[in-house]
Amino acid sequence: MRKIEFFDTTLRDGEQSAGINLNTKEKLEIARQLEKYGVSIIEAGFPASSPGDFEAVKLIADTVKNSVVTGLARSIKSDIETSWEALKGGVQPHLHTFIATSPIHMQYKLNKTPEQVIEIAVESVKLAKKYFPLVQWSAEDATRSDKDFLVRIMNEVIKAGATTINIPDTVGYSTPIEYGALFKYLSENVTGIEKVKLSAHCHDDLGMAVANTLAAIENGATQVEGTINGIGERAGNAALEEVAVALHIRNNYYQADSGILLKETKRTSQLVSQLTGVVIQPNKAVVGKNAFAHESGIHQDGMLKNPETYEIITPDLIGDVATELVLGKHSGRHAFFSRAVEMGFQLSEEKLNAAFVAFKKLADRKKEISEEDLFVLLTDQQVKSGEVEVYELEELIIQYENNVPTSTITVKVPSGESIMETCAGSGAVEAIFNTLEKLVKGEVRILEYRVSSVSKGRDALGEAVVNLTYNGLTTTGRNASQDVLKASARAYINAINRQLVNVQIKEQAVVGQ
Ligand SMILES: [Zn+2]
Repeated sequence: MRKIEFFDTTLRDGEQSAGINLNTKEKLEIARQLEKYGVSIIEAGFPASSPGDFEAVKLIADTVKNSVVTGLARSIKSDIETSWEALKGGVQPHLHTFIATSPIHMQYKLNKTPEQVIEIAVESVKLAKKYFPLVQWSAEDATRSDKDFLVRIMNEVIKAGATTINIPDTVGYSTPIEYGALFKYLSENVTGIEKVKLSAHCHDDLGMAVANTLAAIENGATQVEGTINGIGERAGNAALEEVAVALHIRNNYYQADSGILLKETKRTSQLVSQLTGVVIQPNKAVVGKNAFAHESGIHQDGMLKNPETYEIITPDLIGDVATELVLGKHSGRHAFFSRAVEMGFQLSEEKLNAAFVAFKKLADRKKEISEEDLFVLLTDQQVKSGEVEVYELEELIIQYENNVPTSTITVKVPSGESIMETCAGSGAVEAIFNTLEKLVKGEVRILEYRVSSVSKGRDALGEAVVNLTYNGLTTTGRNASQDVLKASARAYINAINRQLVNVQIKEQAVVGQ
């Protein structure tokens, strides 16, 4: 059976999409889960883009052992050299470099002739090969490029030492038959193509990313790129979990193996959704909340007689198993710890203890603690940075006077001092946000605000996600609490803190260079 390598770019193409900003700990947690999930390659970021990205890529390359770790670099000497510094600690250092090959990109974006583009591509691959044993070269906007120009440039970059050739549908323009034909054409016409890996990278602008990816596999692709839950620029990337399940369920057709541990699908998807704050649409294939729900009477009847009448994928396959045993107020440390391990968490003693304290606090107020509650609680402990928060919520009071809500908020600042402000609003949330804006002393614009319940029941945890700009920079914060007003205030403060810490990291790095 053919082996298809899975190249995950959740932390690069996914992370660069609107409203997502992960900190280093969160990125590392996702990378660890991707390693467990069995992806061959993790694209951890774009090291030359910022000191924060550099730091995260380096940490991931130094930590992950069972997946190859790569980073993106433009065809620029300093990008390639910076990437080497970030990636050299990896088990098999791998670089992903690219240049645009379509007429429109070459003329308007690069302002270069096709001959110049070939020269730059060859030089950058040669330079990369001085450092990296594995070099992937991408023809950006390949699907809108001239096929014979692609053959020419690929002949040259393979000669220069590229070990993988990627043919991205950067703008999500291609169709399955067209994209498959392109793979076939290049496989037949590029010299030396049989010695390198051939990769597909699809975007979902026309809703065809997964179909295009599968068409590429049928026509010679040996590597596929995508993200978990299909997150990414604009309409997103191909959803890797869908590709993996398709190869498994339709194995008789594709005759290909992904090497993905399908049982880790649900957990991987949940983790990415929680940490990025990007909700999964309920009807999404494979990982949507309703992906296995049968509502119609005829279907339910069939399912009872034989599940295979209407079910081609089982929840069990993707690790979506409901555990009967619920934890509650009287559950002890041991039951809690062993459940955390069962759920796949590897927390230090100290973090486990902190999580247990948080669990006890919640169990005092909530009758049954569900798997979803535990997941949020344990993940939060896992990614807690341990750094001093710039602002910390101490007290929140909401009062209504003549139907007008007023909020009074006290926050603690790093000097240890407590400061208080009061503001009204047309609703309680607006009152809170108005008060917080005064406290953080900067201009804040709310771009998106959402509260959703983590589990079922009236005492469920509410998770608030706030996407805002603070002094002109965009940032996202989140928090889960039974009290959604408190969760909203903390999510707002979390967003502000993240941005302040990020700015500090950038300033330190500039001084350090
Ligand atoms: Zn992309």
